[in-house]
Parts: sequence; C-alpha cells; structure tokens
Amino acid sequence: MSGPDWDSLGRAWWSHVRVLAGDNMQGRETGSPGYQRAAAYVAEQFQAAGLEPAGVDGYRQSVDFRVSQLDEPNSSLTLIRGGTAQPLQLRDDAQFAVSTGTVPDLEAEVVFVGYGLDVPEHQYSDLAGLDLNGKIAVYFRGGPSDLPGPIKAHYQSVEERLRSLRKAGVVGSVMMTNPKVPDLPWPRIATGLLLPRMELAEAMSDSPRPLPLAMAFNPDRLELLMAGSGHSASEIMQGLGGPGPLPRFPLAVKIRAHVAVRRSMARCTNVVGLLPGSDPTLRTEYVAGSAHLDHLGIGEPVNGKSLYGGAMDNASGVATLIQIARMMKESGQRPRRSMIFLAVTGEEKGLLGSEYFATHPSVAGPIVANLNMDMFLPLYPLKYLEIQGLGESSLGRDIRALGAEVGVRADAEYEPDRVLFIRSDQYNFVKKGVPALMLSVGYQKGSPEEETSKAWFRDRYHAPADDVEQPVDLVAAAQFTDLLGKLMLKVADAQQRPTWNEDSFFRRFVR
Ligand SMILES: [Zn+2]
Repeated sequence: MSGPDWDSLGRAWWSHVRVLAGDNMQGRETGSPGYQRAAAYVAEQFQAAGLEPAGVDGYRQSVDFRVSQLDEPNSSLTLIRGGTAQPLQLRDDAQFAVSTGTVPDLEAEVVFVGYGLDVPEHQYSDLAGLDLNGKIAVYFRGGPSDLPGPIKAHYQSVEERLRSLRKAGVVGSVMMTNPKVPDLPWPRIATGLLLPRMELAEAMSDSPRPLPLAMAFNPDRLELLMAGSGHSASEIMQGLGGPGPLPRFPLAVKIRAHVAVRRSMARCTNVVGLLPGSDPTLRTEYVAGSAHLDHLGIGEPVNGKSLYGGAMDNASGVATLIQIARMMKESGQRPRRSMIFLAVTGEEKGLLGSEYFATHPSVAGPIVANLNMDMFLPLYPLKYLEIQGLGESSLGRDIRALGAEVGVRADAEYEPDRVLFIRSDQYNFVKKGVPALMLSVGYQKGSPEEETSKAWFRDRYHAPADDVEQPVDLVAAAQFTDLLGKLMLKVADAQQRPTWNEDSFFRRFVR
C-alpha cells in the first residue's frame, strides 16, 4: 500500500544538487577551490551514507594536470587566398583549441576531409588518397548514416582521430559540428575554448601527442573556407549526415595562425566511496556507479550571469550517487559484489579524471561494470530511459528487465551522431574492457518532451542557465535514482559478471 515517498526522495536528491550547483561551489571547475569544496561535500555525504573511504588519501584520489589557456587578445587567425590576407574574427568565425602540443606560429595549406574518419573494419577512409602531409585538415564531427553508430563513435574519439590524422602527416585540424544535430551552439563552443584546457600530467602510454594546431570553426562560416575550391558550403551541408562519404578536396586557402598560450599545472581529486560486498568470493569484484563532479566554473557572462553552476551537468548525477548510497544504507542490504561510488574530476576537460581512475584504480579487484550518469535530465515524468550502450552488453538486458517491472521502456540512444557513448566517462572503462551503460531520462520522438529536451540543450547546456532555478521533475529524479540503484544491486548480486554481447564492437577491448 505504501510505496516509496517519491516527493521526499526527490527533495532529498534536490538538496544535494542545490549545494553542488550553488554559489559557494563556483561552478566546480577542475583544479579550483570551488571544486575542492564540492569534493569535501561529496566525501562527507559518502561517509554519512556509510560508505568506506576507497581513494588513496581517504575518499580522495589526486590527479595532476597540465593546463593550457588561450590568450585570445594576443592570438590571430588569417586566411591567405591567392596573395591576399583575410583576417578572421576569433570567436565569431573560429576559435583555437590549445594544448601542450600547440605551437605559436603555423602556416599551411588546407584540405577538406569530410568526416576525417578512418574505419579499417569497413574499408572506409576519408583520409586515403589525399595529400595531407604538412597540411591542415578540415572536418565535420559525425559520420555517414550508413556506418554503425558504435564504430562511428569510437573512431572519432579524440585519441583515434589524432592517431589517424598524425599518421597522414596532418599538422593542424579544424573541427566543425553538424548544425542539424542538437548539440552545443557555436557561441558556446567558441567561449568554452577560452576556459583553461587540461591534459593528464602523466602521459598515458599509447596516447598520441596533440597536434601543433587545432581549432573549431563556425559551421555558418564554412563558405569562407570553400570559396575558390569548386565546392560550396551548401553542397557540403546537404550531404552532411547522409549515407556515404562527403566530397574531399584541397581548399583554395592557406591558414596562418598565431596562437598565444598561458601554461601552468593544476591538481584536483576524484572522490571514491566503497560499499563492501558480502560474498566471500565475489566481494573482490566491483560494480562502479559514476558521475562527473566537475563543471565549467566561472566563465563568459550570459545575460549578466557568469556562474556556470552545472545543476544538471552534472550535480544531478553526483546527487544520484549519494542518494543510492543512502538507499543502500537504509535498506540494510549488502550486495554480494562490492560497489564503488565514483565522483570524477576533469570530465569537461576531456574525460580525464575517469581516465586516470580507470588506469590507476584505487581498489584492488577488477571493476566488472560501470553505470554512468552525465546530465540524465529529469525534466518530465519518467516513462522512458535513453541508454548509451544498450545493445552492447548484458547490462542492456538487465536495465530493460528492471524498467519493464515499473513500466519504463529502455531505448537506445536517440542521436547516434552526437556519439555520446564515447563522450562521457564510461568510455574510459569501456576501453579497459568493462561493460558499461550511460543512462538518462528519455522521451518519445515527436512528443512535447522531445521539445523540452531540445530546448534545454539550446538554452541551458553549458550555459549559466543550467542553474538551480530551472524547472526539474523531482519525482522523475527520485524514480530514476531508484532504478539505477536497483540496477547496481542486480549487477552486484548476479552470479555471473556482466558480459559484452557476441557482436559488440566494444568486445575488442577485453584483454
Ligand atoms: Zn558538460
């Protein structure tokens, strides 16, 4: 008769979001004092929920970063067409993406390489047959509609792109996003690149070095690059996201870049809590629930507001981790496998905290599953789940079954071209062979909820409006949290550990 009190569970969840996205946390930028306050709050909450410390120093695991920040006023970008120089406006037309690899001055010829993808399994290459040695490659994120989503996703991870561009001799990259896909709008990409950019201080063994030049380009200004090439921006836009490769050809311009970079070091922390398993054999295996704690800090003001609180991105996910730990404590249940609760840093800087943790786990045994949340968007009642990785492993069947029990349908990702499976922290576990899911509240295509979701990306994603004033469905948040907690428990209690499906592309990472 008496089910859970969703209202009060929702309010408890919201109380954590309010703290983490509040003024005192200053937007939780990696390396900032605000982030450290947020980490202290999470450690306190983990402790109050009965979790044991499972970091290196108590609940904490330190991570060191190299920081590169664009000095925009002292940088410039010029197109050279014939003999004439045409200065471009940084932020309006393009913006540099600086790194430890950035060189101060570079001038080179430019080639349009379509999606810039190399997919050996499908004998697909946008780079083959082009002379790219010493040149700058211009590409669109995404890929042809007839390549399978997971493969498309994998080969456009930063690492794989760098590998294939470097192999082709490319010295610089110019990235554009497909404006037809809901994602960050251009102005937020351009101002986002002004924030300090980070790399792990410890070079990861097989990661390729970043390119000497990298930038993002406003897709509305594509014609600036196309003029004189015999191809037009509208021709490219028409083919974008359709079947087959885009045309690829040399452009009639050179790019001349002068890039000023401020460099420094930073230290930050992952927060790790442990609920020890009860089964003498299974307790050395770990089910990891994760969410990134960092956000964008204080940035370019929008409507007079410069605090990027990141309430949904991703205080919401961390609040869910805390609430699941509490639910476990209150139920008195002990899972057979151990559970870890992981709040990671550096997600917004390129999934760095999770990369560090997956490479240097602070727990001894194998991690057998990762269930990740990154802005799960409880903006309307929970009837659908949108799940990255649904069709890849036994975890997909687990969540389908749990959802069905409460009338919630689990759907695969709605926008394969946003390639979310590689764009949040679960991917660092996937690359270590660990089956993983990322879970969000879903909607039915064509419904008002789809509109609400799209409007959220347009108005609030990576903007100061992702704050604690926005309307949120607290009951949906509580029910989502309950389902995720049940999933963690189901996976922790199962006799068999999760497995990748026979036909999953991601099986290849299992060692
Ligand atoms: Zn984000």
